[in-house]
Amino acid sequence: MTARVIGVLALQGDVPEHLRALEDAGARAVPVRRPEELHQLDGLVIPGGESTTLWRLSVAFDMLEPLRKLIASGLPAFGSCAGMIMLADRLADGVAGQLTYGGIDMTVRRNAFGRQVDSFESDITLSGLDGSDATALRAVFIRAPWVEQNGENVAVLGTEQRTGRIVAVRQGQLLATAFHPELTPDRRIHELFVDIVKDNT
Ligand code: GLN
Repeated sequence: MTARVIGVLALQGDVPEHLRALEDAGARAVPVRRPEELHQLDGLVIPGGESTTLWRLSVAFDMLEPLRKLIASGLPAFGSCAGMIMLADRLADGVAGQLTYGGIDMTVRRNAFGRQVDSFESDITLSGLDGSDATALRAVFIRAPWVEQNGENVAVLGTEQRTGRIVAVRQGQLLATAFHPELTPDRRIHELFVDIVKDNT
């Protein structure tokens, strides 16, 4: 069977790391930055970076509405950090007028872990990976958001140990992490997303 094609939104953020991680997980990964590049995709990754910049560049590149529509119509998507923010239906601490693509019935708080812990690493317990009930994963957080409220169809996959905050969720074919799995060698999150894409197509 041919590999699924997964686009990595290449407006801003850690694009090459996601391309590599997806290829390691068995997908064909391509950078995308124009509306006409979106149509042959089986899935989409929205990288971390800065959500206000992703929002503004999405508007400038005419990507906001096409992405909203594709995600709403069932395109599998995975967002890490700022990408998680972009998949949230609601924001806390967004800048005035800040828009997201939406898709996951959750409220995400930007920069939630606070100034004094701008960046940190933490072992988090994840459920739903590879048949195992719960496995520790080393997670890198950089000015990370957390999930402040989640709807009943949003499954919590992981919480951060120190704060108990929700940092990994799944709603159907949509996956989001507050941390950056593309920055560590553990490929289980990208493998999970590739599996979601395979199940969907
Ligand atoms: N704090 C950033 C934002 O609001 C996210 C940081 C990140 O993606 N590493 O978009």
